[in-house]
Formats: sequence, structure tokens, C-alpha cells
Amino acid sequence: MASYNPKNFFILAVDDNSINRILLDKLLKKEGYKTKILSRSEEVLFSLEEFKPDLILLDLMMPNIDGLELCEKIKQNPHYQEIPIIFITASDEKQDLLKAFDLGAVDYITKPFHNQELLARVKNHLELKFTRDELKKALVELEKLAKTDELTGISNRRHFTSLAEREFNLAKRQKRFFSLLILDIDYFKKINDTYGHPVGDYVIKSVAQECIQCLRKEDLCARWGGEEFIIFLSESNLEEALIVANRIRSHIENKVIIYESFKINLTVSIGVCVYHDDDKSIVQTISRVDTALYKAKNTGRNKVVSIDS
Ligand code: GH3
Ligand code: MG
Ligand code: MG
Repeated sequence: MASYNPKNFFILAVDDNSINRILLDKLLKKEGYKTKILSRSEEVLFSLEEFKPDLILLDLMMPNIDGLELCEKIKQNPHYQEIPIIFITASDEKQDLLKAFDLGAVDYITKPFHNQELLARVKNHLELKFTRDELKKALVELEKLAKTDELTGISNRRHFTSLAEREFNLAKRQKRFFSLLILDIDYFKKINDTYGHPVGDYVIKSVAQECIQCLRKEDLCARWGGEEFIIFLSESNLEEALIVANRIRSHIENKVIIYESFKINLTVSIGVCVYHDDDKSIVQTISRVDTALYKAKNTGRNKVVSIDS
């Protein structure tokens, strides 16, 4: 995890009092923060887009739009909801402070503010935000890892199954249709035996890329196992699925995979099936496409076989 550094944070402060503005700017800049200090609350909403502040210091009492109204407006925008807002307030404004917390403020500082207290509160809330942001990033990364096949970078079996299950249920409810392809590299063991395992890995990666290149954005291609890939073609009937399968098959047959001094030719066998509306689950559809692949293997390889006619 990256460490906390004031230089990485932008603080937006709003105060109608010019002395406060100067003090705030000097104090925050000296600490290393980037700052933008505004005098009029009307400017704040426009400035958020430009400065994307990590924290906002808001004077509670201001002419025209006061701090409370401004806080409410900022929090209404989902893009800015996560920005911590700290109020700067005179000690006799306690009643309004309760409202400020209701509106989503995280803290307050009373005027005249004590420099070290202000810096401590700012740091505290920025550190919290920073940790939250880092956790969010880690979660996004983890989610990506959980969906991805490590070797090829395409979807893994688990991700495919969960998406295909969802699409299967949609097809059932909305009378939609889809096709499945399953592809297996022919005599792959020989590639490993002849050139070695790392070359085998490279071949698997290349085949994944070839498949992706032959598909539309809305299709899903995943690594099903060792040298096997599964493809979900949404809104595709058998005729369309066969066209895609033959395109992939001939594309791979005509491709020479180059790895250092090796020039490798290979072929694939592909099973094809369409969704039947009496399929009980995606497992049943997958098992049909598997049977099609089995037939392709047993009747000569380097071919496309469909289980449906
Ligand atoms: P067929 O034409 O019947 O499909 O024969 P095949 O040799 O392609 O199939 P088989 O299932 O007999 O062998 C697949 C081989 O793939 C066995 C396994 O060692 C290898 N394999 C599985 N995963 C990987 C991998 O991630 N990297 C490499 N290099 N090899 C793998
Ligand atoms: Mg194989
Ligand atoms: Mg296999």
C-alpha cells in the first residue's frame, strides 16, 4: 500500500473572511498540501469538477449560500459524496452543527482555530479517506483477479459459469437464445513434449488471443481448462454459431505461432450447440456442447461439429 503524503492531497477551503483565507492557505501549504481557497460559496460547485478535492473545509456562516446549504448540495452529487467536509464555525453555532452532521459533515473546527488542531483533524480525515480509497482499489483488483485466468488474462471458468448462468436464466425468462462453442487444441500434448512446457503455455495464450479476435465484444470467451476454451455467443442461432466456429478454426489452422526459432502449426476441434428452452440449467447446455466436441475429436479433429441439426 502507498503511504500517506500531504503532497498527494488537494484541499478546497471556503471562507468569506479574507484573513482566515490567508491563514488557511499558509498553514495548509506549509504542511505540503495542495490548496484552493475560495471566498464565495457560489464558486464551490463549479470548482469541484476542476480541482477534484480530497477534503473540503467549509465556513458555516457565509452570505448567499451558507455552509449547510452548500454541504447539502455537494452531498447530493454521487461523484462528490465521498469527499470529507469539515466545518469551520464560531462556537455559538452549535445548533447548526448538529444539522451539519446530519447533512454528512465529518467534523468541525471552532474559530479562531488552533493551527495544530486544524492540521490534526484534516490529517485524520484524509488518512481515513486514503485508507478507504486504497481498500476500494484493492477490492477492484481482487475482483478482477478472481475473474481472470492467470495464464491467458481472459475470463476463468468460475467467471464464465456465473455469467453463463445469469444469461441462461435471462434466456429462459425472456425467450432469448444463445449458442455455446467449446474448443480444444488438437494433439497439444505433442506440443509440450516437442517444444517444452513454456512453449505450450505460449501456444495456449496465442490461441486465447486468436479466439478473442474472432469474436464480438458482447461474446464471452473463457479458459475452461488446460488447453480448452469455452465461448458464449449471445443472441446467436446455430447458423451464426457455426460461422463463428469455422472462422476460429480456419484462423488458427492458418496461423503460424512463432516462439524464438520455433514455427508451430496447430489445429483445434470445436463443439457447437444452441440453447434449448427445455434445458434445465446451463450445466445441461454445456454438457451438450461437450458431447459435440467429443464427436469432433473422434471423427478426425480439426473440425467443427454441432450437436443440433
Ligand atoms: P486431443 O487432440 O485429444 O485433445 O489431445 P491432447 O494431447 O491435446 O489432449 P490431452 O488432454 O491428452 O492433453 C492435454 C495436455 O495439456 C495435458 C497437459 O499436460 C497439458 N496442459 C494442461 N494445462 C496446461 C498448461 O497450462 N500449460 C501447458 N503447457 N500445458 C498444459
Ligand atoms: Mg487437446
Ligand atoms: Mg483437452
